[in-house]
Amino acid sequence: MMPFTVAQVASEREAITSAGGGGRYIAGGTTLIDLMREEVERPSSLVDINRLSLRHIRLERNALVIGALARMAEVAAHPEVRRVHPLIAEALEEGASPQLRNMASIGGNLMQRVRCPYFRMLDAACNKRSPGSGCAAIEGVNGGHAILGTSESCAATHPSDLAVALVALDATMRVRGPQGERRFPIIDLYRLPEDKPHLEHTLRPAELILDVHVPVQPFAVSGRYLKVRDRSSYEFALVSAAAVLDVRNGVVRAARVACGGVGTRPWRMPAVEAALIGQRPTRANFETAAAHATQGARALSGNGYKIALLPRTITRALEMAGEKV
Ligand SMILES: Cc1cc2nc3c(=O)[nH]c(=O)nc-3n(C[C@H](O)[C@H](O)[C@H](O)COP(=O)(O)OP(=O)(O)OC[C@H]3O[C@@H](n4cnc5c(N)ncnc54)[C@H](O)[C@@H]3O)c2cc1C
Ligand code: SF4
Repeated sequence: MMPFTVAQVASEREAITSAGGGGRYIAGGTTLIDLMREEVERPSSLVDINRLSLRHIRLERNALVIGALARMAEVAAHPEVRRVHPLIAEALEEGASPQLRNMASIGGNLMQRVRCPYFRMLDAACNKRSPGSGCAAIEGVNGGHAILGTSESCAATHPSDLAVALVALDATMRVRGPQGERRFPIIDLYRLPEDKPHLEHTLRPAELILDVHVPVQPFAVSGRYLKVRDRSSYEFALVSAAAVLDVRNGVVRAARVACGGVGTRPWRMPAVEAALIGQRPTRANFETAAAHATQGARALSGNGYKIALLPRTITRALEMAGEKV
């Protein structure tokens, strides 16, 4: 591990100034420290933000607001979160392990890096870790890789379960940096790899995530998260689906569907949503709508099974959401 310094900061202003000088934010440290031990990441200074007042979880006007330093476990257990956005609680509980969820922050979860094995192997070609070096996964072990949003340069999936739920729920993110504060949809945090997979997100230098805002709509109580994986705990998604349904008088009025484990970023499914509107919430109609999910999908040698698994996972998630309306 490379030597590094740690600055403990007491205000957002101090944090942003320290990060502007080249420091890297650290919250729970559950993933950044691993990457530093493996020397995949080599920051020379860390900015410990844990003393900032960013651990809030509250209902504000028509939004659930979750501070960047709130821990995954406390957000998942929060009564208001469970009441207005059960999808968020379920997505969080399906991630990592109880020990990790106690330490891991919401900001850190959204900023975690890919789990492609070659990204962590210093002697493997990886455009994300070492731009221009190639992509060992394209011809190598790629069963867990993405089928949507890939390029010749990278096909790693975005690993966060929470991000999938937040994208489905049209959440926004509030950030502050040297140029002031701004707010944008969480989907816009993530870049497609294209020919620059080392550029993963749209935060500007030294920008600090303050909180996420999730609109509260009555039908969000139907939200469900289904995660298909190799083992039932402590494992990332092969395919996951977040589904929310608004059904009135036996007809779907609105639908929100987003998926994980298949895209190079959390993947919203507008064609699936559109195909549900005006339909009765039956398995046959869910299957017909879910068939739209694989438009534009491109498989590698080992992940073709996801093209069949994706619509099935969406269908089942929609059925689960339908049971709650
Ligand atoms: C074994 C294992 C299994 C896991 N399984 C899952 C899983 O199934 N699903 C899932 O979703 N996740 C999973 N994770 C990921 C886990 O959720 C993340 O490690 C955790 O959420 C990161 O939070 P943290 O606070 O520890 O982040 P840190 O390690 O402290 O930081 C991570 C990154 O976020 C940046 N950052 C942190 N806070 C901010 C902020 N406020 N503003 C700007 N940048 C910030 C840091 O600079 C760093 O780049 C797993 C992790 C491990 C180790
Ligand atoms: S898929 Fe992406 S992260 Fe994995 S080796 Fe290729 S460039 Fe690196």
